[in-house]
Amino acid sequence: MEVTENQISLSFAQRKDQEDPLRKYRSQFHFPTQEDGTPFVYLCGNSLGLQPKATKDFVNRELENWKSLGIEGYFEGKNPWLRYHEYLTDAMAKVVGGKPEEVVVMNTLTVNLHLMMVSFFRPKGKRCKILIEADAFPSDRYAVESQLRFHKLDPKECLITLKARAGELLLRPEDIKKVINEHGDEISLIMLGNTNYYTGQFYNIKEITKWGHEKGCFVGFDCAHGAGNVPLELHDSGCDFAVWCNYKYLNSGPGGMGSAFVHERHHKDPTIPRFEGWWGQNKERRFLMEDQFDPIPTIEAWQLSCTPIMAMAPIWSSLQLFDEAGFSNLRKKSISLTAYLETLIKSLGDDLVEIITPSDPEQRGAQLSIRVKNENKSLFDKITEAGVIVDWREPDVIRVAPAPMYNSYEDVFRFYGILKRALGMKGDQFAG
Ligand SMILES: *Cc1c(COP(=O)(O)O)cnc(C)c1O
Repeated sequence: MEVTENQISLSFAQRKDQEDPLRKYRSQFHFPTQEDGTPFVYLCGNSLGLQPKATKDFVNRELENWKSLGIEGYFEGKNPWLRYHEYLTDAMAKVVGGKPEEVVVMNTLTVNLHLMMVSFFRPKGKRCKILIEADAFPSDRYAVESQLRFHKLDPKECLITLKARAGELLLRPEDIKKVINEHGDEISLIMLGNTNYYTGQFYNIKEITKWGHEKGCFVGFDCAHGAGNVPLELHDSGCDFAVWCNYKYLNSGPGGMGSAFVHERHHKDPTIPRFEGWWGQNKERRFLMEDQFDPIPTIEAWQLSCTPIMAMAPIWSSLQLFDEAGFSNLRKKSISLTAYLETLIKSLGDDLVEIITPSDPEQRGAQLSIRVKNENKSLFDKITEAGVIVDWREPDVIRVAPAPMYNSYEDVFRFYGILKRALGMKGDQFAG
């Protein structure tokens, strides 16, 4: 986007909002407010998505059903609990580009990552290593290292990490390919965050899957920062599995449930190692209480427990909005919104504010990670004080993520104005 004077103005941002075909969704969310009642500029949907106004009704409906039906709620009411998770499947599958048989909402992210590694980390002889990013999200690293130790393998020897080149922050695709080619026959599992939580870099998962499969590795992705943010096309990518949480871009509430994808090629494999429970049992026979496990021939075989209805209701309320808005429309707006944020930040001067996220829209989602020269956390505290919610990641990064579902161009402009003033620069024509 060319920097023109005209773009750096509140009136430009407001005009973009008027032209935005998705603008009505903003009013369907609750925005946190400051002490004086004015809403925060909320650009933190990458950490915790906002609450859809409909969520309360979705949860209340099930509380009412529980109150009035008791156990009969499993079979009665508008949406019987026995099949409750199924009501979410189609919409979730669309968001991540999976087939409905390949996607299920269950457990939480790190739990699902462990369950997937039970199935897809099968060390054998020399092929006993796991490849992750050097700056993987800590929970992913703990999960992966503990799986290695569980198999009596030493993480010091069996964990390969992908590091950016000296002086660089982003991983170059050719370097990922090189490591896979060099170590592929020792690698059992490649497990990458598909959109890096820190840099915002979005990897080409189809390409990485192809490189891994050519070397005989299983390939899985942690899509915590991808789901609801970038086009994942999980089925077409061919990856073996993916896991994600739904409380970031998918607005399911704090600690809300996660989801998983297993490619259909694995569904009917009778030899696949898997931790099992009764919710994975053939639905026709589940209540016959038989000893023999007869897995559902879809990803649902990986389910363990009966569905936590109260935790699932918020996801459903949010997914209805995604389904209605259409993921490709959201992505289109997201590309434009983030480009606008980039234009404004760049106008502050590359020498002062560095954007570490790739500038290629194909290699990023909504989030831009920025570093400000000679500043520390006090800058972050200052902009928070001035009414912005973004997030700070040690040692020196501010992550800013306009969520296309509810953020506006005006939000982005207001953030820019506040950042500019916090840096001691004079604000542009900036109304509040
Ligand atoms: C947010 C996030 C997590 C958090 O995991 P939970 O099990 O939901 O607490 C893990 N990994 C990545 C990459 C994340 O972005």
